[in-house]
Amino acid sequence: MNISLEQITVRQVNGVSALKEGELHAFGVYTILDLLEYFPFRYEDYRLRSLIEVKDGEKITVQAKIVGLPVLQRYGKKSRLTCKMMVDDWMVTATWFNRHYLKEQLTSGREIILTGKWDQRRSQMTVLDSEFPDKGTQRSGSLQPVYSVGGNITQGWMRKTIGKALDQYGEMIPEILPQEIMRRYKLVSRKQAIRHLHQPGDIEEGKQARRRMVYEELFLFQLKLQAYRNINRKRNSGIVHTTDNATIREFVRSLPFELTNAQKQVELEILKDMREPYSMNRLLQGDVGSGKTVIAAIALFATVRSGHQGALMVPTEILAEQHMRSLQRMFEPFDITVGMLTSSVTGRKRKDLLASLQMGMIDILVGTHALIQDEVYFRSLGVVVTDEQHRFGVNQRSILRRKGFDPDVLTMTATPIPRTLAITAFGDMDVSTIAERPKGRKPISTYWVKHNMMDRVKGFIAREIDQGRQAYLICPLIEESDKLDVQNAIDLYIQMDQDFPNYKVGLLHGRMSAAEKEETMRHFYSNDIQLLVSTTVVEVGVDVPNATLMIIMDADRFGLSQLHQLRGRVGRGEHASFCILIADPKSENGQERMRAMTETEDGFEVSRRDLEIRGPGEFFGTKQSGLPEFKVADMMSDYEVLEIARVDAVKLVSNEFFWTSPEYAALRDYLERQQVFQGELMD
Ligand code: ADP
Ligand code: MG
Repeated sequence: MNISLEQITVRQVNGVSALKEGELHAFGVYTILDLLEYFPFRYEDYRLRSLIEVKDGEKITVQAKIVGLPVLQRYGKKSRLTCKMMVDDWMVTATWFNRHYLKEQLTSGREIILTGKWDQRRSQMTVLDSEFPDKGTQRSGSLQPVYSVGGNITQGWMRKTIGKALDQYGEMIPEILPQEIMRRYKLVSRKQAIRHLHQPGDIEEGKQARRRMVYEELFLFQLKLQAYRNINRKRNSGIVHTTDNATIREFVRSLPFELTNAQKQVELEILKDMREPYSMNRLLQGDVGSGKTVIAAIALFATVRSGHQGALMVPTEILAEQHMRSLQRMFEPFDITVGMLTSSVTGRKRKDLLASLQMGMIDILVGTHALIQDEVYFRSLGVVVTDEQHRFGVNQRSILRRKGFDPDVLTMTATPIPRTLAITAFGDMDVSTIAERPKGRKPISTYWVKHNMMDRVKGFIAREIDQGRQAYLICPLIEESDKLDVQNAIDLYIQMDQDFPNYKVGLLHGRMSAAEKEETMRHFYSNDIQLLVSTTVVEVGVDVPNATLMIIMDADRFGLSQLHQLRGRVGRGEHASFCILIADPKSENGQERMRAMTETEDGFEVSRRDLEIRGPGEFFGTKQSGLPEFKVADMMSDYEVLEIARVDAVKLVSNEFFWTSPEYAALRDYLERQQVFQGELMD
């Protein structure tokens, strides 16, 4: 069989006219294969049932015998046809609306199969569909596929046409999965799976068909990702970093703590990438407080010691400040120069900074996202570390390349998601995960209380501050420009300032100038402010180990991941820490989220629940979603298969026989025709 089904146009199916062919194009159906892979999204159940097992109001299909005379009532254009039937041993009244033409066929003693809604009390059935066994049945006794249709293409036509395509071409569907995989997972053949997805004889057949196609779909998808990754690696245009382990050790030894095993592991993964001639594209994920910053510092150190420059891109000026300070502290003994560029660095200062950068007198530049754009030129940019919010799109990459850079890119995210899901959502990235927190961290106890407990909460604040600790009090802020919420923060600040005359209370919100924010944060770092009333500007990355109490007002207005981020501002030192959520959520969903927060402290678990509650679209955000559309598989519920398929795909791509052995020829052919490898790997 040399001609394949993706080369035959759908016109070749009996009954598909030129007109219909054009209409099918609207559904993305051009070839026989497209049509065969146009799967139903659900099934109508026409299997015969007995009335005994049926609940009132259910839609059912039953076999009946006509026992009475049909009665037809007309109301203008409308009509109502009733007739007595025997179903099992019950007398049932069957009712049709607007099917007056059936009257002649309802002869006493004849068998009929009825599908409709069962009204137990009246012993009555409203018939939606009926067939006479003596004329041959089509639907009865089966599960009927329901396709997405529209325009001039009806459900019935689609069923019939796909049925014909299966009859004419079904036998030509080749197997593409490797035998060993088919055997390992006991998958049905592709031929059988496609047929049974359209025409499942029974539930089990449908299930097996789906299981096979889900695996196949996810497996092919993972093969594709592996291929992209390999293409990037083959491009070989990245910087080869030469810094050796001894030099890195010197830096790591200077840190005030020992790296956790998880940190050591990701350090290895990153350094390995940096030493290779391709440009790294790696996602570093770890729960809040797992110590990602120091990993970023190691990567930056490595690039500087290889004679290049590094950039650290963060979402806010507060964070830029903080990272600037901590990097300066870490790099001071090593004579590494750190500069900072934000929108508030202007005029003469900015000019000087940019000039030093271009001359290579600044080794590391910290800043907000303007950092790699516009008039900013590095002498030699080796590594860019970014925060998730600045995830590099293809555009930004090409901006960099146009400037002559192909740096290694490390993207950090504190919204950990299951590894495979991350790989899926973040496409061609490699993923490193820190799933362990530094030793000696005390757990953060989380409580959910109602607004009427505010007095007790204040007592709690006093207790912590009297013991020398510090506290955050967060107000919701939907948007930085949301005036109302800023007002909230200001009101709350005034109130707290009155309630706690003995403490210094600070205020932080997005409408303050950069200088004001900076000053407030400096006072909080140095414990000159004990209670900080703030909007969510402190959400990401702020690190004040002496702060042990996080109070979140109207907590139900935040997403789970955001709450977890906020909670992560405490529990960063040796003291026990607390998070108090203040909320009176009305909805079940809101209450569920509050409970979830009190029940788990593990960021991965929080993400999982968040994903569950909000669904992947909202979770990932529309902009960066880039989630693949699957025909059969569901990324959430088939998540385990996705994981298995990935392992299998990685193994297969790295198996040299994959590229040559006839065993994989059908799969290679299929992938090539689907342009999965874009020709680049199929030398
Ligand atoms: P993340 O960015 O992952 O939320 P940070 O990098 O800000 O976490 O680290 C949180 C705190 O833990 C910082 O104060 C940091 O100095 C400290 N830290 C990082 N790694 C370790 C470690 N291995 N042992 C002890 N403390 C660590
Ligand atoms: Mg951080």
